[in-house]
Amino acid sequence: MNTTKRIATPGVTRGLMQDYNVAAKKSLGQNFIIEPQIISRIVQTAACDKQDLVLEIGPGLGSLTQALAEAAGQVVAVEIDQTLLPPLNAQFAQTPNVALIHADALQADLAGLLSPYLNQPGLRPGFMVVANLPYYITTPLILRLLTDNAPWRRLVFMVQKELAARLQAAPGGKDYGALSLAVQYRAAAKLAFTVPAAVFLPRPKVDSAVVVLDRLPAPPVQVADEAMLFAVIRAGFNQRRKTLANALGNVLALDKALVTAALDMAGIAGTRRAETLTLAEFAALTDAITQMTQKGGNSQNPLD
Ligand code: SAM
Repeated sequence: MNTTKRIATPGVTRGLMQDYNVAAKKSLGQNFIIEPQIISRIVQTAACDKQDLVLEIGPGLGSLTQALAEAAGQVVAVEIDQTLLPPLNAQFAQTPNVALIHADALQADLAGLLSPYLNQPGLRPGFMVVANLPYYITTPLILRLLTDNAPWRRLVFMVQKELAARLQAAPGGKDYGALSLAVQYRAAAKLAFTVPAAVFLPRPKVDSAVVVLDRLPAPPVQVADEAMLFAVIRAGFNQRRKTLANALGNVLALDKALVTAALDMAGIAGTRRAETLTLAEFAALTDAITQMTQKGGNSQNPLD
C-alpha cells in the first residue's frame, strides 16, 4: 500500500488550488480527478511498468502524474497552463522520473519532446500516452497521434462518453467520421470503463469514459499514399452533407471530371456521402485519385 499523500482527493486538490491561488479554467478543459480509485483504474488499464516511457497530456495538479510516476519508468508531462507549473514543480521536484514541460500539446513536436528518453537503456522502444484529456483538444489531438509518425504503442484516454462512441463508430451513423476511420486504420479500440461526472472538480455536465487504443502491427488496408488517404477522408467529412463527388472536388480542389473518373475506378457511386463509405472503400478511392493525379503529371495533386 502506497502511503504518499494522494493528490486526487477533494481535500488535497482544493488545498493545492487555495495554496497556489489557482482556479479551474473552463477554457482549458480543467476538470481535476478527485477520486483516487479512478486514478488507480486508469493506471491499471494502461498496464505500464518500469520499462515504459509515458507521455501525459495535461497533468493539471499532478493527480494522475503521481500514480504514473510510481508505475512507469519515465513520465513526460506536458501542461499548457503556466499557473499550474509552481504546484507541479513543487510536487515533483524530488521525483527523478518525472519531466514537466510547459507547452501546448497540439502545437508541440511530441516525439521531439520525448527524444531524450526514446531508446534510453532500460526503457522499451516507443511510448504510451496516458491522459485525462481536456475536451476541447480531444479530437485534434487523437487525430494527430493517429495520422503522424510518432512511435506510440498504446493510448489511454479519459474522454467524454460521446467521444468514446465516435472512436468506435461504424459507417452510416452520425458518430461515424474522420476520427472513427483514423482509429480503424491505426488501432484496435476498446472502451475500458465509464466514469461518472461526480469524480471531477469542477463537475462537468457529462459523464466520461476511459478508452484504450492499441497500435495495430499494420493497417488493415494498404494505400500507395497514406497522407492522401487522410486528406480524402478529411475532405469527405468536411462537407459531410454533400455528395462525395462535390465534397472531394470542392475541398481537394480537384476537377469534377477527375473525381468522377476516380469514383468510377473505385466502383463507388458519386452520389454517396462520406458517412456511408467503409475504410476499404476510402482506400480504393484514394488509390484511384492518386493514380489519376499522377497520370495528369501531378499537376492536380491536392497535397502539393
Ligand atoms: N490530469 C489532471 C487530472 O486528471 O486531474 C488534469 C486533467 S484536466 C481534464 C486537463 C488538463 O490539460 C488541464 O491541466 C489543462 O490545463 C491541460 N491542457 C489543456 N489544454 C492543453 C494543451 N493544449 N496542451 C497541454 N495541456 C493542456
